[in-house]
Amino acid sequence: MRQVQHVIGGRVVSSASGATFTSVSPIDNQPIAEVAEGGAAEIDLAVAAARDAFPAWSRLDPTERKRALHRVADGVDARRDELAEWETRDMGKPLALSRDKDMPRVAQNLRFFADWAEQVATSAYAKPWDGVLTYELREPLGVVGAISPWNFPLMLLSWKVAPALAFGCTVVAKPAEQTPVTASIFAEICQQAGLPDGVFNVVHGFGPGAAGEALTTHEDVEAITFTGESATGQAIMAAAAPTMKKLSFEMGGRSANIVCADADLDAALAGSLRGSFVNQGEVCLAGSRLLVQRPVYEEFVSRFVEGAQGWTVGDPFDPQTRIGPLISEEHLDKVLSYVELAQEEGAKLLTGGHRLTDGALAHGNYLPPTVFADADNSMRSCREEIFGPVQMVMPFDEVDEAIAIANDSDYGLAGLVWTQDLATAHRVAAEVRTGTMWVNCFFVRDLRAPFGGYKDSGLGREGGDHSYRFFTEAKSVVMQLA
Ligand code: NAD
Repeated sequence: MRQVQHVIGGRVVSSASGATFTSVSPIDNQPIAEVAEGGAAEIDLAVAAARDAFPAWSRLDPTERKRALHRVADGVDARRDELAEWETRDMGKPLALSRDKDMPRVAQNLRFFADWAEQVATSAYAKPWDGVLTYELREPLGVVGAISPWNFPLMLLSWKVAPALAFGCTVVAKPAEQTPVTASIFAEICQQAGLPDGVFNVVHGFGPGAAGEALTTHEDVEAITFTGESATGQAIMAAAAPTMKKLSFEMGGRSANIVCADADLDAALAGSLRGSFVNQGEVCLAGSRLLVQRPVYEEFVSRFVEGAQGWTVGDPFDPQTRIGPLISEEHLDKVLSYVELAQEEGAKLLTGGHRLTDGALAHGNYLPPTVFADADNSMRSCREEIFGPVQMVMPFDEVDEAIAIANDSDYGLAGLVWTQDLATAHRVAAEVRTGTMWVNCFFVRDLRAPFGGYKDSGLGREGGDHSYRFFTEAKSVVMQLA
């Protein structure tokens, strides 16, 4: 059993109360870590440490901050295998994803924002005829609370922490309680890289009525950057209101994946399978409503089912595995309840739908790729976020109909369209109300671009300049020159 503790003011500490909780691996539901369970007391200490560290860190030359964050990135690279193995043990995603995608992205997030922060300039607004010069100062916000989910544990934590630190804020992070381990290893790396004490703090624990909520209500926390469920976002917004925090939310999705009859169907198939099942379908950006144009519907659905059956489910440490276990038994039950609901609602189950219990899989939370055809967008199983390897497929006739179905959702995080017609691509991209629209691709990211969601999927945007604007306060300095 690994011992996982808080990191507060540069010290590795347990909770004042001595409280702990156990983190289990979804591979076999066996305990892997004993984790310090923080509450308001630990949040108070961490916020105080971050506040003390803020003046020096925020005034440090951005080049020095950049160097420090590059050292952290180097530390992540150096310990990539160890981080990836713990991520997979804690979360269940295939090791190849943790090692070859997530951990390199953690390092990339750090380097990207470190470099960006050194380059940014502010504007000047000159009125020489009046002798007035106004210029903009951008100042780091202060202490930022970063609350992250379990599906890309360290990658999403670093997506928040990297820009916050690069732009001169100090951070108290509250990682997801299901996947606490890599955040603590990361804090260790930060210390070894020479990040000053208190600049980055980690408090473990739960959300409502616990460490998470204490962070959102703390009067010395200037902003909350949160990724998680939309309902949690609503709770955080309400909790943060009395202290008027700046908020940035990246939340749930139920994105449409539109396959037009003129698409390159091989590419659409490969992309749609990834868009449905990568990371066990535990992906906010998943194209989890698959809309296929009628002329190719039968053919595409049959190839999609065959493709889905080819995704090997199993131990995430096995290199053959493409789908590991779901995060917890509780989550598996939730996903299975949607499988049942979809059947009650009249969708046709084509493959999957049952927990796998063969051999060693019996101890973990394994669900094979599950495909329903002839779904209808009015079904709850098409409207609510399932967050598992379950795909609901429905036909459409005209592109306008597909756009209308895509938009008939409380969410608006992502979307995919597969077509060889440029005009269709542009029209769908423009008319679907969503934060990211992928045309003939999936999961491709440019870290300079805005990232976030419309409707219940988000509040604000992060990425490049958007993160810069979020983590800094703008001030106008007005000078009378004449
Ligand atoms: P969650 O909302 O249950 O938890 C996320 C984090 O919030 C955890 O650290 C949790 O402890 C904390 N939390 C929960 N209640 C809180 C409260 N009242 N106050 C403060 N903190 C609280 O989400 P999850 O189950 O960990 O993650 C899955 C969800 O995240 C899905 O909805 C998914 O779509 C979403 N997600 C969105 C993105 C995105 O970029 N838009 C990325 C990944 C995941």
